[in-house]
This record gives sequence, structure tokens and C-alpha cells, in this order.
Amino acid sequence: MKILFASSEAHPLIKTGGLADVSGSLPRAILSQRQDIRLIIPAYRKVLEVADNMVLAAYLELEGVNNPVRILSGRLPGGNVRLYLVDSPHHFDRAGNPYTTRAGHEWADNAERFTVFCRAIHALAMNIAGLDWQPDIVHCNDWQTGLVPAMLVDSGAAAASVFTIHNLAYQGQYDWKTFKSLHLPPEWWSMEAMEFHNKFSFIKGGLVFADWLTTVSPTYAEEIRTREFGCGLEGLLGHRRNNLTGILNGVDYSVWNPGRDLRIPIQYNRRSLFHKRENKHALLEHFALPRMDGVPLLVVISRLVEQKGIDLVIEILPDLVKQGAQLAVLGSGDKSLESALRKAAREYPEHVGVHLDYDESLAHLLEAGGDMFLMPSRFEPCGLNQIFSLRYGTVPIVRVTGGLADTVVDTTPETLEDKTATGFCFHKASATALWNAVQRTIRYYREPDSWSRIIDNGMRQDFSWKRSAERYIALYRQILNG
Ligand code: ADP
Repeated sequence: MKILFASSEAHPLIKTGGLADVSGSLPRAILSQRQDIRLIIPAYRKVLEVADNMVLAAYLELEGVNNPVRILSGRLPGGNVRLYLVDSPHHFDRAGNPYTTRAGHEWADNAERFTVFCRAIHALAMNIAGLDWQPDIVHCNDWQTGLVPAMLVDSGAAAASVFTIHNLAYQGQYDWKTFKSLHLPPEWWSMEAMEFHNKFSFIKGGLVFADWLTTVSPTYAEEIRTREFGCGLEGLLGHRRNNLTGILNGVDYSVWNPGRDLRIPIQYNRRSLFHKRENKHALLEHFALPRMDGVPLLVVISRLVEQKGIDLVIEILPDLVKQGAQLAVLGSGDKSLESALRKAAREYPEHVGVHLDYDESLAHLLEAGGDMFLMPSRFEPCGLNQIFSLRYGTVPIVRVTGGLADTVVDTTPETLEDKTATGFCFHKASATALWNAVQRTIRYYREPDSWSRIIDNGMRQDFSWKRSAERYIALYRQILNG
């Protein structure tokens, strides 16, 4: 099959979150099962700095765009996946991240930028870009690619479309004036198409018009059909339930494997777990926290947004400190959460360390050096850090939601006995529920036999991409067979 995989970010070229991990790994896993899959992303400034050996493959004249857009062609670093970059300097050649300025504000022209991206994807899908390659399937991801399924339907394309929801909370909504400026078909401003509460919704283009919808865990696929998690789109998703599948994300164990990880001071595996202690010492030093014997070190790596429940972590800090535990946080995001964390670090200098930054190497050190990983998300489509944590022997403490519910097994006398226990789970999104789970975890931490069993069970888990890739391929096949 020929598949065009479209995403607004892909590791190792550009990353703001889990979408980049998926877009960097899934195409590679699908290619290794002998399918002709190609990746397309925007040519952001940072991408052009990292990607080398790109050659000019085509010029596109796109509606509403003054200058021709270039398609550059090359390979995704670290594999053999064919990569196309949509090079429109006016839209993508700027500092800052794919969606925001350096100061953290949304780019004012995001609707226009991602409309251009969608038009370019559509041109490739229609084989009118002069690349002499026509995909059977166009696999779109999140709102930035949401217009593509609608464009394909409008133009009677031969290619079928899959739309994957990585996070329903981000929808790409714009007002009427912006919609008018995009030169899109006027009939798209209707309830049956992309209008949503008097806004133009990019994600609706995918949800309404794609041949098939997927999301990144089976539990999230159920949750988004409810009012609590549906972000107002639960009715539409309920309507499409027969064409909606949850496929759990995998993780890339060539990047996230403590046995081969060159970003950590000492590599280790299940049989040399004692080396974790040296990584812990390095981590404490990095965060200027003192070494304390027998004291658990909890870690957090996260975008600092309400979704991730960081406020709950801040709320339990006084209790955590009273217990004698230590906490290291790596994250960036909401200014109020950042300043609360900064304040906590000042207040408890021996117990709380924070790095308000986005730092991939440091993320590896936290996974390797931590004893426990906190992930009290209010919702979590899949979540990757809890899966990395399992492999690094860093016991996850998670709220039972979305992909967290599908990847971590709570510790009970029964699950310890049958060797399935891998972490600690709690239900309510409250500081009390989180604190109870943390206390329960610390009790087990003080029982070395049980603790090493939980770690060992976690490190044995296999969430590699192979199985998920097989499921996507089966789905593509099913769609093409009608
Ligand atoms: P989301 O996509 O909602 O942010 P995921 O758990 O799916 O959450 O993926 C987050 C990814 O981003 C992980 O690979 C995680 O390690 C990484 N990440 C998040 N925040 C940071 C940070 N401050 N520094 C380094 N990596 C981060």
C-alpha cells in the first residue's frame, strides 16, 4: 500500500509533545513491514537546520498563497522513511515553536499556516504535485491536518483518509473573519461540515469527512464519546462510533532503552538495576538536591498545563516534604504553574528541584534516576512517559484515564502475586486521591522484595511499535477493501 502520513511535527526533526514521537516512529515501523509510507511535515526553520540532504522535488501553486510553495524531498533521520517538507518560508521559516512565538503566544496566522500545509498535502494526495506518486491512504493527525479529509472528499479523490486524534482538546477553532480570509469553500461554514458553535473548526474536517477515525488508546476511544471527555464533540463521535478505533501508541525502544541510552551516565538493564543508583545521584546533583539515604525521589516530565494535573502535585508538596521524599520536575508551560513550582523549590530547597525548560537529554536522566514517576493527568489520550518509565524501572503513579488505564496495572496483593503489578493507580482527580496513591507507593518502596518485583514486572513490558503498526496496516487494508 502507498500511504502518505501527514503531521505537524516529527521526532527527531521537531517536537513539542507525543505527536512528534508517534510521527517519528510509526511510519518507520510501518515501512519495516514493507509498506510504502511517506511522511510530510512543514519546513519550519528548525527542521531545515536539522534535516540534511533534502532536494527540491516540486513547486506548487496553491490557492490563496502568493508565492509558490516548494516540496523538498529526503529521508527522515534515523531510518529510511521518505520525507517531504512543505517549504513556504513566509509561513514556516521563523523562530519559536510550530504553534507559538518564543513568548508562548499562538502565532496570529496559524489558521493560514495550516491551511497552506493542508493544501500541500492535498496536492500530493491528488498526485498533482509532479512527484509521480499517488497514495492509496492519507493518514492525517490532529487539527493541523484536519482540512485534508474534507478536501479529498470535495475533489472526489481516489485516496481514502484516516484521521488520528492525539488530543481532542486542541481543535483549531477560528472566527468567521478568519474563515473568510482562508478562501475555503463557503459551504464548509455549516453544522454538517466544519462550523462549530459559530467558529470554524479544523478538527471537524477530520472527524466528519475522514473514512476512518482512530485515537491513541482503547480507553480514550471510549471516553471521547462521553460528555466528560468529548469537548463538545461527543455527539459527532458517537455518530461515528462504527468507524472509530483505539490503537495504543507504541514507544521507540531504540531511543528509550536504559541499556543503550547514551544520554544517561550509566546504562543498566533488569539485571544491573543497581546502576540506577548512580543515575539517581547524577540527577540529584543536576537539580542541586542533597543525597539522602532511603528517601524516594519522585519525578515529573510534562507540559505544564491543566490537563496534566500538575496543580495536584503542587497541592501535595507539603505532605510529600513532611514524609521526607524528594521531587524533581522538568516542564514548561503555564506561567502560573511555573511560578508555583519555582516558589516550591525556593521553599523546600532540599526536597524540590525544578527545571522550567524543554530538555530532551534531561528527560532521559529523570527517567533513569527517578524512583517513581508522577502522572496525575485529568485526561490522557495515550501518554508516553509512563511507558518510558516502565522500561527505566521508574514506577509510575497514574490516574486511571485514557492510555494510562491501558498501560499501568495497579499494585495489589493479587497483582503482586500473579506478577502483573507495574505501578500505582488512583481514580479521582483530587489531591487527596493522589496523596493516598503516593503514600501507598512509598509503603511498597520500603519493602525491597515487593518493590523489586514491581520494577521487574514493569521493565518486562513490551510496548514496541510492531504490534500497533500491524493494527494500522490491517485497518488501511480493511478501508481499501471497503
Ligand atoms: P503530550 O503529547 O500530551 O505532551 P505525551 O506523554 O504523549 O504527552 O508525550 C510527551 C512527550 O514530550 C514525551 O516524549 C516527553 O518526554 C516529552 N516532554 C514533555 N515535556 C518535556 C520537557 N519539558 N522536556 C523534555 N521532554 C518533554
